[in-house]
Amino acid sequence: MRIIIMGPPGAGKGTQAKHLAQHFGIPAISTGDIFRANVSLATPLGLDAKRYLDAGEYVPDEITNGMVRDRIGEPDAAGGFLLDGYPRTLAQVEELDGMIGPGGHELDAVISLVVDEREVVERLLQRARIEGRADDTEDIIRRRQEIYLEQTAPLIDAYRNRGLIVEVDGFGEVDEVTKRILSACELSGAEMIR
Ligand code: ADP
Repeated sequence: MRIIIMGPPGAGKGTQAKHLAQHFGIPAISTGDIFRANVSLATPLGLDAKRYLDAGEYVPDEITNGMVRDRIGEPDAAGGFLLDGYPRTLAQVEELDGMIGPGGHELDAVISLVVDEREVVERLLQRARIEGRADDTEDIIRRRQEIYLEQTAPLIDAYRNRGLIVEVDGFGEVDEVTKRILSACELSGAEMIR
């Protein structure tokens, strides 16, 4: 099972990714988490990525693509994986196609979490108070939303054209949203294909 979860910053992708990965017995691969782990360990990758993360900008594709290629090549991802935060640009979509099979036929579903912009900014400010993530200040949150709309939202149409998009309302309690995603996947047939 190979799934992508998409949505604007603050849509709850990371939380849902963990629940879904557990349900399907596949690893949740979050590029944001991998970058943050590298930043806190001050690895060479972390040192390269830090300034982009702090500014809310996307890390250059050359860095991100290589990192994802390595991660999905690990043994635990052989039976499938759930990608959270990748691909985020059309160039990354092509790169991923190259990694898993041309035309994206190897993908089972692309879940698109739909949320209201005001709601997500509120959630992110709330998370800033709890987790203190460096990129959760109001200005940077707005910048991340802008970049999302400009560079990542078009990916939804690209995957819709391949019949892969499963659109789910991301508003509500965590468990409720997870249930919604699972039943939407079932309806689209995504759960049947492994
Ligand atoms: P959010 O969805 O809340 O913005 P993430 O944890 O997914 O948070 O990502 C945090 C940051 O990591 C992004 O703002 C960006 O700098 C970097 N990043 C994550 N995934 C990618 C990607 N696919 N391409 C480029 N940069 C990325």
